[in-house]
Amino acid sequence: MPGGRPAHTWENVESFIKSRITIDPTTNCWLWQGEIGPSGYGRIRMGYVKESVNRIMAILHLKLDKYDRDLFVLHKPICPNKHCCNPEHLYIGTGKDNWADFKKTKQWKVKHLGSRWKKGFGEE
Ligand SMILES: [Zn+2]
Repeated sequence: MPGGRPAHTWENVESFIKSRITIDPTTNCWLWQGEIGPSGYGRIRMGYVKESVNRIMAILHLKLDKYDRDLFVLHKPICPNKHCCNPEHLYIGTGKDNWADFKKTKQWKVKHLGSRWKKGFGEE
């Protein structure tokens, strides 16, 4: 892309991701330092679309088909960080698993449980 920023490709994106993470020594999480999307996952521009960093790592390491939009990349219970992209902390699940995962998030609780949840904050 002459004149513009170099586009990430499937060949070079992993080294770029690795240059933009910090590793948490306690959890071994790979914490993404770049853009974070509204759902809490790291994002990166791939060509004309923004792709989730977790999804890219799953495609590269967990054999996720890059065109399969029915499967989701989820975090194992050992991983407390949504913006972590350590492939060892990720697994591939269905939309149903994703919903169960999402329900654990703060956004969901605030939206659906509102003050009931806020009252009990910190003592789930
Ligand atoms: Zn992690």
